[in-house]
Parts: sequence; structure tokens; C-alpha cells
Amino acid sequence: MVPTAVVLSHDSYAKVLAERLETESTCSGDNETIRLEHHLSLPVSVRSEDTDIIVVKELVPNPCPICHHPLKFLRELIERFENEDTNQIRCPLGHRYSGIMKVYHLNIFQQSERDEESDKMSECPTCGSNKIQYLGPKEMFCLDCDWDSDMVARYRV
Ligand SMILES: [Zn+2]
Ligand SMILES: [Zn+2]
Repeated sequence: MVPTAVVLSHDSYAKVLAERLETESTCSGDNETIRLEHHLSLPVSVRSEDTDIIVVKELVPNPCPICHHPLKFLRELIERFENEDTNQIRCPLGHRYSGIMKVYHLNIFQQSERDEESDKMSECPTCGSNKIQYLGPKEMFCLDCDWDSDMVARYRV
């Protein structure tokens, strides 16, 4: 699964921004949303309904049904899958097979409130990359592969 966007309510957005401002020196004139997007490495939108979620997408089936290799460069694959209209997935070895894209909404803040401190992870357990992106105290994903911290899907779109 690959997180692709964050949707926040106006309240949460204000809260997140306030938290950011505490840890970061401010330059007036900077666009706050752009800085937050940069921080999360995801597009952020603010609206009033169905909020405080991360939009997560995955391609199914994965791994490839022919060679059983897991898909690589999922972000790029998902982007291509959305732009093309063929429903074809291309595996790392070049097999093309028909598949579907599933979209999930993960609730970010509900879980975080229960959890207190947790040890910060700095390395991806799957690929060893140090590009771990935190969304909450225990919600994180890897920017270099499709690893995530078992973020639980609230519902499917
Ligand atoms: Zn294959
Ligand atoms: Zn990784």
C-alpha cells in the first residue's frame, strides 16, 4: 500500500500547523500548506467532510501472478495505472497482467491518541532505506518501497 494524499479537517489542520510552528522557525510569506506537504511528502487538502484520513492505494494482484516477484516503484506504477486506461500492471520482469487499483482511507488521528511515546524508527525493515515518513506516533511508511506500519484501512472507497 502506498499513501498518496492527506485530508484534514480545518481543526486538525490548524492543530498540525501549530505543532509544526513550535518546532520550526517561521518565515512569514511561506505558504503553510506547501511547507506541510513538504514535511509529510504528500499532498494535503483541507475540507469539512470525511477528514483526518490518509488516502492509500494499492495494486492488486501483487506480487506478479506469473513470476511471483513483488511490484517495484509502486508510486510510479500507480500513477501510470491511473493515467492509462488499460488496467494493465507491469511487473519488474516485464510481465503485463490485468489488475485493479484499490483505494483505502486510513484514519490517522484516532489511533494516535491512544498511543503515548514510541521508539522512533529510522530504518525501513524491508528495504533498509532511512526515508521513513511519520504520519502519527505509530503511523509511518517508507518512501522508497511499499512498507508501512500495518496502518489499518477504515473503509474502502
Ligand atoms: Zn512477473
Ligand atoms: Zn522501504
